[in-house]
Amino acid sequence: MWGSRDRRRSRVTCIACGEDVPRADAREYDKYGDRFDRRDKEFEHLCKDCYREQSHQPRGGLEDLLVESGAGETDRDGFLETYTDLVREEFETRRSESRED
Ligand SMILES: [Zn+2]
Repeated sequence: MWGSRDRRRSRVTCIACGEDVPRADAREYDKYGDRFDRRDKEFEHLCKDCYREQSHQPRGGLEDLLVESGAGETDRDGFLETYTDLVREEFETRRSESRED
């Protein structure tokens, strides 16, 4: 299942639950949150059930945040510390912006 190279074109694996589903029954998932920009992208897939449960809130900047936090390059504690700091900063910024009305 996970990481299987034996991927027939007509079936895809849901990245959330690992279920093999017919391609026609799956939804494309773009980790960058923009399914309409298809250039140089390989999409992952979600089954319909998982797609329904997925948050459809915008997640602009998430990939940048992960890179900035050193995801995959620093150890777990270092990553979590940096990530938490950056998210807190972002949260504080948004909260003070939303007070301006
Ligand atoms: Zn699923």
